[in-house]
Amino acid sequence: MAKTVLITGGSRGIGRATAVLFASKGWNVALSFVGNQDSAAETCAMCERTGLTGNAMARKCDVRDEGDVIALFAAARERFGGIEGVVNNAGIVAPQSTLADMDIERMKDVFDTNVLGAYLVAREAARTLHSGTAIVNVSSVAAKLGSPDEYIDYAGSKGAMDTLTVGLAKELGPKGIRVNAVRPGIIETAIHANNGRPERITELGPMCPLGRTGAPEEVAKSIFWLISSDASYVTGSILDVSGGR
Ligand code: NAP
Repeated sequence: MAKTVLITGGSRGIGRATAVLFASKGWNVALSFVGNQDSAAETCAMCERTGLTGNAMARKCDVRDEGDVIALFAAARERFGGIEGVVNNAGIVAPQSTLADMDIERMKDVFDTNVLGAYLVAREAARTLHSGTAIVNVSSVAAKLGSPDEYIDYAGSKGAMDTLTVGLAKELGPKGIRVNAVRPGIIETAIHANNGRPERITELGPMCPLGRTGAPEEVAKSIFWLISSDASYVTGSILDVSGGR
C-alpha cells in the first residue's frame, strides 16, 4: 500500500516540488493551500502525471487556524487511510524593513503563520503519526544569519522552528517518530517577487559559496531523504540546503 505525505503550502514553490517528488516515488500526497486553489489543483495534476492515478488531494487550510489544521489531517487520513510523513512547509515573508520600521500587524502576521502555524501543524503531526514515520520542518538559513535590514521577524520565526525541531525530536524519538528540519538558502520561488524583492535571486545568488541560487527541486530531494527510511537514524537534525550560505 502506498505511503502518504501531508505537505502544508503545496500549491507553489518548495511545497509543489516536494509534492511532485514524493508522487514520483509512489507516495500519495495530501497538500494544502490558503488562497491559490487553481495552483494547488495544478500541483495535484502534476502529481497524478508523475505518480499513481488518484494519488493527490488538495485542501484549503490556513495554518493559523486550529480548526483548519485539524480538518486537514482528518481529510488526509480519511482519503488515504494514514499519514507516514509530514512536511511543515507553509510560510511567509513580509517586505524588506528594519525592525525599527516594522508595524505590529506585519510582525503578528509573520509570527502567526511561521511560528503558531508551524507549531499547530507539528502538534497535529505528533497526535497522528506512529512509529516509523517522520516530520520535516522547512526552516531557513535566515535563522542563523538574522537577516538584518531585511526581515529580522522572519529570521526569528525560523529560529523558533529550529527549536521546535530539536525539542519535538526528543519528545517523539521514544515513539519511533523522527523530526528534522531543512534550512533552505536563496531558492528560486515566487516568495521573493511576492514580497517586492524579485532582484534578490540575481543579486544574492552569485554571493553564495556555490555561486548560484538553489532550485525548489534541490530542497525537495533533501526533504524526501529526511522522511525516507534512508535517514532512519537521523532525528533532531537541521540540514542547511543553501549552497554554503
Ligand atoms: P511560496 O512559493 O511563496 O509558497 C508559499 C506556500 O505557503 C504556498 O503554498 C502558500 O499557499 C502557502 N501559505 C502561505 N501562507 C499560508 C497560510 N497562512 N496557511 C497555509 N498555507 C500558507 O514559498 P516558498 O519559497 O516555496 O517557501 C516555502 C517554505 O520555504 C516557507 O516556509 C519559506 O519560509 C521557506 N524558505 C524559502 C526560501 C526561498 O528562498 N524560497 C528560503 C528559505 C526558506 P497559497 O499558494 O495558497 O498562497
